[in-house]
Amino acid sequence: MQANNETKIAMVTGGGSGIGLAIAEKFTQNNIRTIVIGRNQEKLDCAKEKLGELCEPVNYDLSVLSGIPKLVADLTQRIGDIDILVNNAGINLKKDFTEVTDEDFQRVILTNLTSVFALSREVVKNMLKKNNGVVINISSMAAQYGLPRVIGYSASKTAIEGMTRAMATELSPQGIRVNCIAPGFIETDMTATALNSDPDRKNRVIARTPMGKMGVPEDIGAAALFLASDAAKFITGVVLPVDGGNSIGF
Ligand code: NDP
Repeated sequence: MQANNETKIAMVTGGGSGIGLAIAEKFTQNNIRTIVIGRNQEKLDCAKEKLGELCEPVNYDLSVLSGIPKLVADLTQRIGDIDILVNNAGINLKKDFTEVTDEDFQRVILTNLTSVFALSREVVKNMLKKNNGVVINISSMAAQYGLPRVIGYSASKTAIEGMTRAMATELSPQGIRVNCIAPGFIETDMTATALNSDPDRKNRVIARTPMGKMGVPEDIGAAALFLASDAAKFITGVVLPVDGGNSIGF
């Protein structure tokens, strides 16, 4: 369905679950037509069911870089120009440093970094035609301090923050704001996998979080809605921790 002039259009990658779903929910609740990208049709169907008419689920594996230009062209034609891009899809891999294979490392970099670049490039081409747009990248505490056993993930998220600043300096003069959210430890499937089997790690997370608890996906949704809105119209190039103080905790 073609959006009317007042309805903004967002794309949230990995919007079928966890943090991405909470971002998509905030957007649709605020009358933003939201394209949700993921690979798992069941998750996408549930997201559509939950978010309703303004949600546009799309099944696509973002690690297939060659199809991204056509994906963006087709969606732009079918739904309209994308005003807000949230690069949220990501994977983690927890393994001892010396056990990580080249393939493991490349797989994480491909999903968490290279596909973010490829998708942003295609979406930004259209944003530049209007000199208007917002890009929000999702980083991690793994880019604020050293975390053991997540080497590919830490490398990818640290690069995302550098890419955010480089994009902001190049694109902000042309009306495109680029920012990054660094979530602390948020209750999702990803952290359940990483922490539930490792109580020591979970205890350390809570101990160094001044607010003494993990966050919920809606915390990140609210921050994304703010950065996407005109309330943030003079904010570009920042990395906003949404972490209960974890990144500055003792
Ligand atoms: P989830 O595992 O719940 O969500 C990840 C999403 O990414 C899924 O919806 C998945 O969809 C999608 N995805 C993964 N690979 C691809 C791909 N190749 N193509 C398309 N979609 C893909 O994790 P979270 O919600 O916890 O994480 C979301 C983001 O937040 C990630 O970037 C993560 O690194 C970051 N983050 C999370 C934190 C946390 O505490 N939870 C902390 C800091 C950062 P599908 O399964 O359908 O492919």
